[in-house]
Amino acid sequence: MTERSQRFSLAGKVVLVTGASSGIGAHLARVAAASGARVVVGARRIERLGQLADEIHAQGGEALPVALDVTDRASVEAAFDTAQTCFGVVDVVLNNAGIGNGQRALEVSEDDWRSMLATNLDGVWRVAQCAAQRLVAAGRPGSIVNIASMLGIRVGAGYSHYCTAKAGVVQLTKALALELARRGIRVNAIAPGYFITEMTDGYFDSEHGRQYIQDAIPMRRLGELSELDGPFLLLASDAGSFMTGSVLAVDGGHLVNGL
Ligand code: NDP
Repeated sequence: MTERSQRFSLAGKVVLVTGASSGIGAHLARVAAASGARVVVGARRIERLGQLADEIHAQGGEALPVALDVTDRASVEAAFDTAQTCFGVVDVVLNNAGIGNGQRALEVSEDDWRSMLATNLDGVWRVAQCAAQRLVAAGRPGSIVNIASMLGIRVGAGYSHYCTAKAGVVQLTKALALELARRGIRVNAIAPGYFITEMTDGYFDSEHGRQYIQDAIPMRRLGELSELDGPFLLLASDAGSFMTGSVLAVDGGHLVNGL
């Protein structure tokens, strides 16, 4: 390994991934393990995490499945406790857990609004704070990578609650970066465009979805999950050692489409 590629390595790091039971989280957990990290995979569907951990072990990596509900402080603390006992202090967090059901603004109920904010914003804050508190207590540096969305920067119809939560994640990323820089903890975000996962499944197979891709995304295609590997490793590893408070769009140019 060259010195330059060594900087992207996660060897010796403990990485905790929230929402690792499917989609982006499961994919980047595999990437972290293949990059040398011991990976703690958290979500509510624990049986899926067991399968993922088995797969990572079969590839020669190390993974630990933990039950995790990011809306529940006790669950978050317990996941970090287990991670710390089994692997040591968590060095890197991928704050990825999220929900994404669309709903027209006029129809969003109090419960829908609260549930969206509770998972997509409060959950990201809770996990980031818990990770940072433990890093500071241990006197260690670290990296927190939040998964925001291009809908945290621009808006889309039917997603008022989601856009608001993700805009909060963008601001939270910057505010935490400011306060934690002096502790050696970097906080950055990725703002993905559209990728096929359980969250987006279905729509992009429809005629309307296919036309939308042609009209709205300058690259005229969806993202491949592997196209998140580089941005994630950059922010998670020492390759991004002078980056904090950044929000990286990974969206095929979607945010810069013409008005
Ligand atoms: P998925 O639906 O495949 O994954 C969402 C993950 O979040 C699941 O593993 C789910 O696990 C977990 N999750 C949901 N609620 C909770 C909770 N309360 N506690 C713990 N885990 C939870 O979707 P994606 O992979 O697409 O989404 C991942 C992230 O990427 C989300 O934050 C999403 O907003 C963001 N994103 C996705 C885009 C896309 O095009 N796919 C675009 C932009 C952003 P479980 O149900 O087992 O708990």
